[in-house]
Amino acid sequence: MAGTVLLVEDEPSVGELIRGYLTKDGYQVVWVRSGEEGLVELDRHQIRMVVLDIGLPGMDGFEVCRSIRMRSQVPILMLTARDEEFDRVVGLEVGADDYVTKPFSGRELVARIKAILRRTEQQPAKRESYELGDVALNRETHEVVVDGREVDLTAKEFELLAYFAANPGAVLSRDVLLDRVWGLEYPGGTRTVDVHVAQLRRKLGRPELIRTLRGSGYKAIAR
Ligand code: CA
Repeated sequence: MAGTVLLVEDEPSVGELIRGYLTKDGYQVVWVRSGEEGLVELDRHQIRMVVLDIGLPGMDGFEVCRSIRMRSQVPILMLTARDEEFDRVVGLEVGADDYVTKPFSGRELVARIKAILRRTEQQPAKRESYELGDVALNRETHEVVVDGREVDLTAKEFELLAYFAANPGAVLSRDVLLDRVWGLEYPGGTRTVDVHVAQLRRKLGRPELIRTLRGSGYKAIAR
């Protein structure tokens, strides 16, 4: 079984065509017409690959791509019309793996999908990397890069940042952070969390990334 592809395409003729190509190649296809529906279906199925049109009603493909990346590393192939200038840089920034320009042949589409799957699925370590705004971190190498600049963090600062990056948008109390990041070793009670957050803000040079919520704790802002 080749797996399930989530196809987000509002144009019936194009959608039919793509579904035909993919089905013939052994993929199961979940086809939706809008990004909003796509995000719902992504949670409901084991999706191996997303094929995402840029021009959609409601959220456009770039927004959808960004939303998917906040929760999943699933490979994403974007579709662009010939008259829309695909901005490669924007595409990469929002986390797309590749794109094809309409019109394309079925063979080209399937070949591109296979190439992306080969590239992404060969690297199981990819799940070990997180992004928070323009801060990228890799749990395996313990590297933290902000806007291309490597930042040196202590082990606890790294763990704390990784926890924020894995839970963007969630309200995290000091007690929860202490429990998840420090476990049983509570060197200075909840004050420890505040000190480490302050250090992270300073070292990353991104004070707005981790927001203080009066009375309830902290929240990492993904963008
Ligand atoms: Ca479209």
